[in-house]
Amino acid sequence: MKVYELEVAIKSPTLITFHSAGNILSHSGSYLPGSTVRGALLGKIYEENPERVKEEAENPTITFHPAYPVVEGEKSTPAHSLTYICKVCGRIFRSPLLDSRRKLGNLIVDRLEQPVKCPNNHYLAVKSIGGQPYTSIKGEMKVASLRYTVSHSTGINRALRSSEIGLFYSYIAIAPGTRFKGLVADPEDKIPQLLGDTGNSVTVRIGRGSSRGLGKAAIKLKEKPDYLQRRAEIIEQVLRDTGNTLVLRALSPTFTISMSASGPATSPTPSINVKGIKPKPIHSSGKNYILTGLTSISGYSKITNLPKISVKAARQGSIYFYNVESPSETIYEEIARLEALGTPPFNQLGLNILEVYGYELPA
Ligand SMILES: [Zn+2]
Repeated sequence: MKVYELEVAIKSPTLITFHSAGNILSHSGSYLPGSTVRGALLGKIYEENPERVKEEAENPTITFHPAYPVVEGEKSTPAHSLTYICKVCGRIFRSPLLDSRRKLGNLIVDRLEQPVKCPNNHYLAVKSIGGQPYTSIKGEMKVASLRYTVSHSTGINRALRSSEIGLFYSYIAIAPGTRFKGLVADPEDKIPQLLGDTGNSVTVRIGRGSSRGLGKAAIKLKEKPDYLQRRAEIIEQVLRDTGNTLVLRALSPTFTISMSASGPATSPTPSINVKGIKPKPIHSSGKNYILTGLTSISGYSKITNLPKISVKAARQGSIYFYNVESPSETIYEEIARLEALGTPPFNQLGLNILEVYGYELPA
């Protein structure tokens, strides 16, 4: 399996997911979903050479991770819900319940109480930043906020080929110069054939409004040699410090669909099919997770255009606890593969993507 680092550099104002307030369309969301990156890249290759994309479109095997904002050269990652910011001094800090790897291994949280003060002793000014991307630069955590720009556009009536009276939009869009990074895992080595002679940098249109000049971006892929082996070593170190408690952090919406007598049922937990890895309860209720919240995912049938599926998924930043029963080189490698490929369903679309949590904590 080959693993690539994917970088998206935004070249013109970009709207990925948005909400509207009157005639103002505003970008919402803090990362680029894997499906957006996948669609932009494969769509661009398809325009130039449909044959190259056919195989991957019919039999998807390449996993596109969500791409997170880069701040001062560092890729950000979503905070779990026990991460807080002080509204007075801006300090970001984690709950003392899990500020070291050793504590991760012993965590029991029956009641989640928000801290009453920040480390600088500001009382009652603390709120959770669960789900928001942050970076850790020289030990200091910073929220990775996106930069925005405002642009204006008139609506075009396609039938009359003229501007539509009264349709004047303002966009609050991601600013040019913003960069995102994610991973691409390619188990069947299809990427070189897909990219062909386009080299490793492709200019794409991403998100909405490309006919109005929005969403120009450059996608770059760079192979990360020995990636799985290096991750397996980090995972071994983390598990040694947590006493074989594996904590997985969701980088994307996360869920399982199971079939029951009454029809399909979904739950906001991933399906982890690695032998010897069992959910580890951290609540007296038996729950093995702390969620940052729930989000809805829907898909549409291409044939009927009717909603086909709608599931409740855990949001990015949710964390899940497991016991690793008999740790070995093989298990570390399997966990590294799970990180790279995600876990079904819809992992190739950038859903159910998880990473091992704890490497940035002190032992
Ligand atoms: Zn403070």
